[in-house]
Amino acid sequence: MICAHGGKLINKIISKEESRDILKKNYLRIVAGRDFILDLEKIAIGAYSPLTGFMKKSDIESVIYKMRLASGCVWTIPIFLPVEDKIALDIKKNELIIICEENGREVGLLRAEEVFSFNKPAWAKEVFGTKSLNHPGVKKLFDTHNKLIGGEVWLLDKPDFEFEKFNLSPQQTREIILERNWKTVASFQTRNIPHRAHEFQQKLALSITDGILIHPIIGWKKAGDFHPEHIIKAYKVLIKNYFPRNSVIFAGLATAMRYAGPREAVFHAIIRKNYGCTHFIVGRDHAGVGDFYGKYDAHHIFETLPDLGIKPLLFREPYYCNKCREMVSDRICPHGTKWHNYISGTKIRELLSTKKDIPEFMMRKEVVEAMRSGKTNYFL
Ligand SMILES: [Zn+2]
Repeated sequence: MICAHGGKLINKIISKEESRDILKKNYLRIVAGRDFILDLEKIAIGAYSPLTGFMKKSDIESVIYKMRLASGCVWTIPIFLPVEDKIALDIKKNELIIICEENGREVGLLRAEEVFSFNKPAWAKEVFGTKSLNHPGVKKLFDTHNKLIGGEVWLLDKPDFEFEKFNLSPQQTREIILERNWKTVASFQTRNIPHRAHEFQQKLALSITDGILIHPIIGWKKAGDFHPEHIIKAYKVLIKNYFPRNSVIFAGLATAMRYAGPREAVFHAIIRKNYGCTHFIVGRDHAGVGDFYGKYDAHHIFETLPDLGIKPLLFREPYYCNKCREMVSDRICPHGTKWHNYISGTKIRELLSTKKDIPEFMMRKEVVEAMRSGKTNYFL
């Protein structure tokens, strides 16, 4: 079945005048954490099309057990709004609620269509494949309130976010794609500074598409991940020096990482479809953490979802081969493992932190220089 929304974007942004009138009303105010505020914004700007609000129970259960919305459209990660028990008790059906950031700014409007409980262990097992509290996504789920509110949302004002200027809306990326007359656009999800294996994959994609959207996550990430400002700085240098002019759209995606591995890979692909992309790069252990997922689990999940509406580019892990003398993968290099040099993010982190040399086959020297200039507190 083809997703019902086709290529249409949801738009739930309310005009300034209308927002002013809404804010004068005596509606209930609820404070939501950053992740939920960013989700609300993503719904409103169409990044999560076809969603028009926080999921109700029927959608959540369908997503958890079938990887589809109740309508049948592919969707793999629940998008939800938790609320404290004592507040939940007072909410009336279809009551309008103003959603505020933790600093008190009023950013969203919600129609509370349903307040409901949910089964955290079953959710964790299905979505993350584990109930272990060592998994950062599971830990966050178990730490959240026990009640959820589902219902339509609208955006009253842009969230106050450090990297807001670096974000583009799906409308904006679609306009750039149209202007540049790109018929095919690959997209690259990342939460790291770029090393040569990333660049190799981006350029493999760019050899068969007209352009590429490099789209790092700049919402919540676990401690130890790279700070967004370093990712932005590193990519600017890489794109300027090593990509053809106007072949890249570089923007941030302000949403939380869930570390849900294969399911999150599909979620990331759906979002990029909304941003106007036709192809989505899936590498090794996409959106994985620790050893919770198999190296290519995120490849296999796409085989079960033929109606996704964006083409996954399932790439094997690239490495530098001393015999081939270039970046290759096990699909194109016949040489034994003794010739292989894998480029691990962990190794690069270690070299950066200990101020040791980073070989050029791992990372472009311009990128290393950029990383070593200015602030060197790289990690969250
Ligand atoms: Zn080789």
